Amino acid sequence: MVNGKRVAIVVERVKGLWQVDGTLPNLALMKLSSWLRSLDFVPVLQRVPDRFTAYASVIFTENRPRVEMWRRVYDFEVGGSGWDLAGRLPDEVEGCVPDYSLYGIGYAMGRLSVGCIRDCSFCIVRRKEGGLRQVAQLGDLVRPDSR
Ligand code: SF4
Repeated sequence: MVNGKRVAIVVERVKGLWQVDGTLPNLALMKLSSWLRSLDFVPVLQRVPDRFTAYASVIFTENRPRVEMWRRVYDFEVGGSGWDLAGRLPDEVEGCVPDYSLYGIGYAMGRLSVGCIRDCSFCIVRRKEGGLRQVAQLGDLVRPDSR
């Protein structure tokens, strides 16, 4: 059964990317998606986890208990400011062009700078990113399919 075999192979290559919270397209998940595609995996955006979930991104600490609960069921990696302020994408993932097809968006996203010159008591930016610094040029964010 050729078609059945092909479906089984494709299912084996599926990697779920769970966006736990936030309503905007998630830049880290888009970079992970590009990296996974380069390794011949099939990334799928998820709003709820399942057995295919490989990576999760959580922004708000209030959602951490939900992620911890699902980690007792499925085995996946987690990142994001709601999980670990010191966590970083590996360089080979950080350097990927975002996979905009994950969200079907027609615009580019990226960060020209990180950090902040201030250190407001209620904010995590300074603890997470440190002082303000440039990390990219505007041209770095132009989409490869831009005309
Ligand atoms: S709230 Fe955060 S990002 Fe905004 S000025 Fe204060 S430290 Fe910087």
